[in-house]
Amino acid sequence: MKPFMPERIYIEPKAFDYPLGKKLYDYFKDLGTEIHETTSHNQIRNLPGDNHFQKYRNAKSTLVVGIRKTLKFDTSKPSAEYAIPLATGCMGHCHYCYLQTTMGSKPYIRTYVNTDEILKQADNYMLERAPEQTRFEASCTSDIVGIDHITHSLKHAIEHMAKSELGKLRFVTKFEHVDHLLDADHRGKTRFRFSVNADFVIRYFEPGTSTLDKRIEAAAKVQEAGYPLGFIVAPIYLHDGWEEGYETLFKKLSNQLPSNGRDNITFEFIQHRFTQPAKRVIEKNYPMTKLELDKTKRRKKWGRYGIHKYVYEKDQEEVMKDTLYRYVDHYFPNSKIEYFT
Ligand code: SF4
Repeated sequence: MKPFMPERIYIEPKAFDYPLGKKLYDYFKDLGTEIHETTSHNQIRNLPGDNHFQKYRNAKSTLVVGIRKTLKFDTSKPSAEYAIPLATGCMGHCHYCYLQTTMGSKPYIRTYVNTDEILKQADNYMLERAPEQTRFEASCTSDIVGIDHITHSLKHAIEHMAKSELGKLRFVTKFEHVDHLLDADHRGKTRFRFSVNADFVIRYFEPGTSTLDKRIEAAAKVQEAGYPLGFIVAPIYLHDGWEEGYETLFKKLSNQLPSNGRDNITFEFIQHRFTQPAKRVIEKNYPMTKLELDKTKRRKKWGRYGIHKYVYEKDQEEVMKDTLYRYVDHYFPNSKIEYFT
């Protein structure tokens, strides 16, 4: 799969005050990419397309270069203390993706060029929590690796955390384009995670992302580059043959990852869930999806933000958890399971 390249970019005039803004403008100008100016990265209204379907797809191939004005970071439980906002949006087309709901009418991709101000703010949060360590999650609002080959903001953040005393960084990706991050001076402070799944889930619900084999190939390079490595298995989705599907995943990981350095691998497990607003948006953006969104087959659970979410029934959840924990135990006995939710 080729690395992401936007079909058009929008740039805020203030972005030119930052070296990264100028660099991105020159880069896309040389490539002959369609370039527009915008007063605000929150107000891109005239994207091409005759209907919602076309506009949504065009938005996902549009990159907006802007300034991050809000420097108040959101919290990011359970995997970190704060979400570090380097970008918003993603070029992938995962049917279940929660960004569809959180980004609403703005599914285009935004990158923020005031990286130094964002990292300075991260330093402030670290100071506030000292002497405790502070973990920052860089992929709450985007698949940051998917655009980093263009911006290198993530690489910058990795090297910044490496030099900090109390900062740690983590992010997750479904993309294979990691080569420019392999020589980053990370000093073990960044946990590089890959989102992986059973073949069925990747095939039917994750268009526009790297194949499982390519993700594992990238994970092997990351492991060899000395990064602490992790895997998020999400969404865990029950389907015909799911037990075999997930076991094949673990077998592949075990066969294809280098044998050195496996002791520090982490696993995070997140079962499939949806909310009523998410169901509406998914059915609009991906009307042909096979994704099962039948509330009567699920257990209602009180979620954050005051909205109910629909998760699997308790007995299904237990079987899922036991099965996956068994695979971890068998294929990666020295790894650590961080949570199942
Ligand atoms: Fe969403 Fe991640 Fe898929 Fe991008 S790769 S669409 S962020 S789930």
